[in-house]
Formats: sequence, C-alpha cells, structure tokens
Amino acid sequence: MSSSGNRHLPAGVEANRPLARFTTVRTGGTADFLAQPGTTADLVEVLGWAKAEGLVVGLIGSGSNLLVADDGFRGLAIKLDGDFSMIERDGEVVSLGGAVRLPSAAAKTAAWGLAGLEFGVNIPGTAGGAVRMNANAYGGKLADVIDSVELCDADGIHRVGPEDLDFAYRSSNIGPDQVVSRVDFRLSPDSPEAIRERLAEMRAWRRETQPSGIKTFGSTFKNPEDPKAGERSAGQLLDEAGCRGLRIGGARFSEVHANFVENMGEATTADVIAVMSAGRERVAEEFGVALEPEVQVLGEVVWPEGWEVGR
Ligand SMILES: Cc1cc2nc3c(=O)[nH]c(=O)nc-3n(C[C@H](O)[C@H](O)[C@H](O)COP(=O)(O)OP(=O)(O)OC[C@H]3O[C@@H](n4cnc5c(N)ncnc54)[C@H](O)[C@@H]3O)c2cc1C
Repeated sequence: MSSSGNRHLPAGVEANRPLARFTTVRTGGTADFLAQPGTTADLVEVLGWAKAEGLVVGLIGSGSNLLVADDGFRGLAIKLDGDFSMIERDGEVVSLGGAVRLPSAAAKTAAWGLAGLEFGVNIPGTAGGAVRMNANAYGGKLADVIDSVELCDADGIHRVGPEDLDFAYRSSNIGPDQVVSRVDFRLSPDSPEAIRERLAEMRAWRRETQPSGIKTFGSTFKNPEDPKAGERSAGQLLDEAGCRGLRIGGARFSEVHANFVENMGEATTADVIAVMSAGRERVAEEFGVALEPEVQVLGEVVWPEGWEVGR
C-alpha cells in the first residue's frame, strides 16, 4: 500500500512518481516519493525528512544496474540533479558530482590530458552508482584512482577514503540511506591523443562484443568464483546452457551476449525475473554453479528462494 497519503511534503518532493523511465531496462512501478535535490543542503534536508518520517530511502543513479519492483517502491527515491552534475579540476585531482555520467567524465578528463578514468567510457552509470557498485572494466581498479568520497546521510556530510569502503567484486559497504554526493579522483598526466586512442579501442571492443541500443541493465549475473565454472564467465555459462535468445514474456537473454537481459518492449520486472530464474536454473543443472545476480533492486522484488540480491 502507498505511504504517500496525508503527508506534508517538503519543497521538491513529489508523490507517486513512475520510476521505469529512470532505469535503462525500463520496467517497474512508482515510488511513493521522489526527490531530485540539486545541492548538498537540499539533499541533507530531504534525507532528514525521510528519517523523521520513517521512510526507506533508495538512490537512483543512471538506473543502469537497477530493477524496480512492479509494485513500485514504498519509500523515498532520490535522484541527484543540479550541482551534482559538476566536473571540476584542481591540478591532477578531478572532482565529480555524484550524478556525473562516467562516459562524460572519461571524455572530459581525456581532453584535459588526465588518465585514469578511461574504464568509464562504456559504463553508462554515474560516479555515485560506480562507487556504490565498485564498477569497473578492462581489469582496472576503481579504488586505485579514488582520492576521497563524500557521503551524505541524514546527519550531514562525511568524507572517507577508498580504504574505508570495503570494496569487493561489484560491491562496497555503502548502505541504502547513504548517498555518494561527490568523488575526488587522483589522475595521472598523459597526452590527450594517447588517452583518446585508448578510449576508441575500448569503444570498438564493446561494439564487437556487446549489444547496443537495447533496454538492459548490463551484466545480469556476477562472474562466478566457483571452481566448477572452470574459468568461464557468467555469460559463457549461460551461453553453453542454451540461454542465448531464451525469452519469457517481454524479456529475453540477448542474442549477442547471453549475460544481458533485454526488455523487448513491454517487459515487466516479473518477466525479467522469470527469464533470470530460467537461466540460473539451466546453469545450475548443467554445471552445478549457482549464479548470483549483479543487478540491484528497488522495492519488494520476489526472488526465487536462496538468491542473494543487493539493495
Ligand atoms: C550496457 C551496459 C554496460 C555496462 N557495463 C558495465 C561495466 O563494464 N562494468 C561495470 O562495473 N558495470 C557495467 N554496467 C552496470 C552499471 O552501469 C554499473 O553498475 C554502474 O556503476 C551503475 O551506476 P548507476 O548510476 O546507473 O547506478 P544505478 O543502477 O542507478 O544504481 C545501482 C546501485 O547503486 C546505488 N546508487 C546509485 N547512485 C548512488 C549514489 N549517488 N549514492 C549511493 N548509492 C547510489 C543504487 O541505489 C543501487 O543500489 C553496465 C550497464 C549497462 C546497461
């Protein structure tokens, strides 16, 4: 049941907002409340309001690794805006607001002749979402380039170092009611041409190996550490288990990359979960490996028993 009735809403907080359009897979229902704060002061204020009202908080970056429940989210969804899109430079330290998209940051820092953020060129997430998820690509480590991270919660602003965040494979210790509002990166000087060349190679490699222009949240399952997987990635296991193109309702595993689930147009989150379940079952039967979802959820998504999914 919605918790939005009869409350006095602070400025900038809207009730009953659809969330599908804030995610790259475009599924799911409405949030009871949505705030899009543009300054740190507004952010801390709205977090304080949510705490006082006993509301659960859920952050949305680019929604590129996010699955919203079909029944929506009974709490306050926050999407950073305004000042949180700033990119600033002080020598070799580059500061990104939590809402800055990684491909923009990679292009901007390349133009400045600063290397270190190239990995972000093909990751359609924000700086905040990347830190929360410990996003990466091409074998690099996010922690190696982070100087410090600004976190906001209902009590105010805190600054932490990468060593405080317990980074592990696609995870950190950042909780659902903590907001990554700014990230400072320490980069290294290099020639803009050399960096741009690396970016072009990375883009070309992606074009060859991954689908583009589809509604997806990227990698569905984490690559397993289970020795039974025998060095195979989640995508290879799904592929060998016959999941490429497997469709349920409006969702299917991509024909191009078996670890990408695609919304064919009218998919619901339930369809996405059904296709994920079918793929996970096939991999378990074929190889005895239990795949773990990489995608995060907002709202009460009903997962099959025994699944560990982040929020
Ligand atoms: C085509 C495609 C390719 C991808 N390739 C890669 C890849 O190569 N490597 C990789 O690691 N990932 C990849 N991803 C996944 C995704 O882009 C990353 O996980 C990204 O870091 C998610 O950022 P986001 O801003 O979209 O976060 P969201 O998807 O919006 O959210 C993800 C999680 O982070 C939390 N969150 C978001 N913003 C904040 C914030 N400011 N403060 C605190 N918590 C926050 C959310 O609440 C949620 O729990 C890919 C996705 C797609 C669609």
